[in-house]
Amino acid sequence: MICSYRFCQQELPSWLNGNRRYCNDECNYLERLEREKEKNLSKKKVLAELNRIQTLLRKCHVQYGSSLFDVNVLREQHMNWTIITGISKTEGCEFRIIGSYAYVVFDDNQIKIIQL
Ligand SMILES: [Zn+2]
Repeated sequence: MICSYRFCQQELPSWLNGNRRYCNDECNYLERLEREKEKNLSKKKVLAELNRIQTLLRKCHVQYGSSLFDVNVLREQHMNWTIITGISKTEGCEFRIIGSYAYVVFDDNQIKIIQL
């Protein structure tokens, strides 16, 4: 077994209990800090992407209002369809919410954006 602290990875002395994953409490603590850093970084990335998509929707809404327009306009700007913050049933459609905007894509490749 080697120490699970990513920057240590020393061989654990064989006399240590088989369940031990770290040389000592310090390695345990430092690895926990690294995991915390990773989590914060990925949170930041998700937040940045969310802001990017929201800005994209805002721009389109400024341009098209709540009218239908070609969904390719968003595709060309690398719309991320996987990020949503909620779902709202409005006007008989299922809108996908991102921040203060929501959109629905219809079968004919038209999209409608509303401001919440
Ligand atoms: Zn260690």
